[in-house]
Amino acid sequence: MARRPGSRPSAERSGSCLARRVLPGAALAAALAAATLAVATPARADEGFAACLSELRRDAIGKGITAATFDQGTRGLAPDRSVLELLDFQPEFRTPIWDYLAALVDDERIADGRAMLDRWRDTLAEVERRYGVDPETVVAVWGVESDYGRAFGSRPLLTSLATLSCYGRRQGFFRGEFVATLRIVQDGHVPAEQLVGSWAGAFGHTQFMPSTFQRIAVDFDGDGRRDIVGSVPDALGSTANFLRRAGWRAGEPWGYEVRLPEGFDPSLAGRRNKRALADWNALGVRPAVAQPGARPAPAAPADPQARAAVLLPAGPSGPAFLVFRNFDAVFSYNAAESYALAIAHLADRLRGGGPFIADWPTDDPGLSRAQRRELQALLAARGHDIGAIDGMIGARSREAIRAEETRLGLVPSGRAGFAILKALRPAGGGGASR
Ligand code: CA
Repeated sequence: MARRPGSRPSAERSGSCLARRVLPGAALAAALAAATLAVATPARADEGFAACLSELRRDAIGKGITAATFDQGTRGLAPDRSVLELLDFQPEFRTPIWDYLAALVDDERIADGRAMLDRWRDTLAEVERRYGVDPETVVAVWGVESDYGRAFGSRPLLTSLATLSCYGRRQGFFRGEFVATLRIVQDGHVPAEQLVGSWAGAFGHTQFMPSTFQRIAVDFDGDGRRDIVGSVPDALGSTANFLRRAGWRAGEPWGYEVRLPEGFDPSLAGRRNKRALADWNALGVRPAVAQPGARPAPAAPADPQARAAVLLPAGPSGPAFLVFRNFDAVFSYNAAESYALAIAHLADRLRGGGPFIADWPTDDPGLSRAQRRELQALLAARGHDIGAIDGMIGARSREAIRAEETRLGLVPSGRAGFAILKALRPAGGGGASR
């Protein structure tokens, strides 16, 4: 969510400056299954932490937090050094975009999203009326951020944020988040015990950081509290409010897949290389269609001067997209093109759209979460200790995959792709095909 600091394996950007690194929401983290870290936590009490808390107390009280709120919120609080390991974690495994999208936009998430569109139809209609953001986009953000409320993360925010405020590289940033969290408690929006989330402090259905909550969250159900943990209407309204504030334009598409002309200069691509839609048309950039007449071209913005950019997420030999301002609004939610594309594509699929037309440049496509569970079950059946069969490909699953790849005479990559799944399936056996 909005400029979340930190990093997990992602399709892009693992070494850029912290504030713009990708930190997926809980569902996304689960889908990607970041490496399981063995974290050594010193047992000794930390005297420095007590001194730091006193400093934080002065700081918080200076910013309008009452002594009672602070003391209640930090009673018995001990640092959790495992969050520092995550702050400095450099992914050893870069996730190709086709793996990232295969798990985030899979049949389960599409089916679940359609059920949510149905269940929250009236609320979503009201959200669209008030903020101009369509139901499918709002629900797609929800599905990617927290798997529709199933995955909030489980780390107590005040513990994580106090630790990150006292140690590590970004103490100033996290002090602001720590105070913002205390303010949520003080104002009674979310009960303190429900303020759990990602290691960096993203929480609730929307996986907002506390400072984002303060700027953006709305009381959509009108009960006087902005509760993005306990109220789905508040969460859906808050997501739409975020997108509207990020420049969302009602009724316009995020973009669409395109076919590039022969000899297209790939240096023209890039989210920041904006040109008028009419210019792209003149260059021969056309909506992609599966077969001539197979499905109608998506509606482009009516204005031929609308600014657009060509995206080539996997380079010139993969799918290409023309993206408009609404793509940038989604991008601002988590500052990663792969993330924005996952939400945009999930929204299209919720509308009944099909998969991308062009193939990703790989002969070993990514796996849905169901296929990941199938792969884990096959690894477990071969005697590997991979932990829970939960579709999260962590360090132990990757180690088991490497062992099986070696046994099969393949290059040991540790990657959970279709090739290893197919190789481990019983000969002639079942299992869903791709
Ligand atoms: Ca409310």
